[in-house]
Amino acid sequence: MTRVFNFSSGPAALPEPVLRQAAAEMLDWQGSGMSVMEMSHRGKEFMSIHAQAQSLLRELLSIPPNYRVLFMQGGAIGENAIVPMNLIGRTGRADYIVTGDWSAKSAKEAARYGKVNLAASAEGSNYTEVPPQATWKLDPGASYVHICSNETIRGVEYHWTPDAGKVPLVADMSSNILSRPIDVGRYGLIYAGAQKNMGPSGLTVVIVREDLLGHALPATPSAFNYQVQSENDSMYNTPPTYAIYIASLVFGWLKAQGGLAAIERHNRDKAAILYDYLDRSAFYRNTVAREDRSLMNVPFRLKDESLDDAFLQGAQARGMVQLKGHRSVGGMRASIYNAMPMEGIRALVAYMEEFEAGHA
Ligand SMILES: *Cc1c(COP(=O)(O)O)cnc(C)c1O
Repeated sequence: MTRVFNFSSGPAALPEPVLRQAAAEMLDWQGSGMSVMEMSHRGKEFMSIHAQAQSLLRELLSIPPNYRVLFMQGGAIGENAIVPMNLIGRTGRADYIVTGDWSAKSAKEAARYGKVNLAASAEGSNYTEVPPQATWKLDPGASYVHICSNETIRGVEYHWTPDAGKVPLVADMSSNILSRPIDVGRYGLIYAGAQKNMGPSGLTVVIVREDLLGHALPATPSAFNYQVQSENDSMYNTPPTYAIYIASLVFGWLKAQGGLAAIERHNRDKAAILYDYLDRSAFYRNTVAREDRSLMNVPFRLKDESLDDAFLQGAQARGMVQLKGHRSVGGMRASIYNAMPMEGIRALVAYMEEFEAGHA
């Protein structure tokens, strides 16, 4: 068996020990005689997995007691509608900060449920920066302010937490959740699809402050109503049980790595090696403002784009896959989430140097 270095933006690489444990437990989870996939979501075995996933996530992120953790379905794109359905009803208006493709999509979807104010946009820079908060035109009567903490496609990340005053801050953290410690108390709501940094697709994590529950628009589907899900411990409908199980193993793995502070150091070291090389090279380039560069998704372009296919083929031949940039922007992108080991970064940089030397 040979495992590749998988630079996919998502679904993405998972820690190998997690996959090994899942494989070992596939037919018989801890003496139950069943696979986790075969368990009733209301049986004691799965209930214990569910509770463990919740408590590990609370511990990793130091989630304050007045926040509920919901395990839902629908993904982050589903949340683009589910968030306004649940929150915009308080005042009918919401502020959106657009820093790339994902937050643009969020704003567009939200406009179907209320009045959306584009309080700031990085479109003028072709989405290569986070506009400084001093330039944001926030509405004090907004129901919430929405950001995307890491734009997965163009690699733009917030390295600071916006201050929305009394207005709740809502963040799509799909591609950088659990990559470093955050102060959950500064947010009203955080959501993230699992398949970048937490587990398989199918699970969507929502962390919501209690006082924001109970304002859903009347047409909100019950399965997507945060209050209904909260009252039912995320079991109003059948939750994505196997994805929750894998996520709980990933949370346990993160804890064993030393928690999020240790993971952050590792992520910073990994990203620095790649960005340092990109900055030294005249052959490759990354155009994101230095202070806003993503530690998770590193897009780069070859100076001569006619070499793109040869670059990707050479990478594939060396066991490095999924380096092609998003179809909307082209170029390359290395997604280097928590599960990407340092050896993967070193192998990529060594290959990039070799390719540069061969084509300069
Ligand atoms: C991947 C991603 C999404 C889309 O997630 P789906 O699971 O396809 O709904 C949305 N936002 C961000 C930031 C992402 O990285």
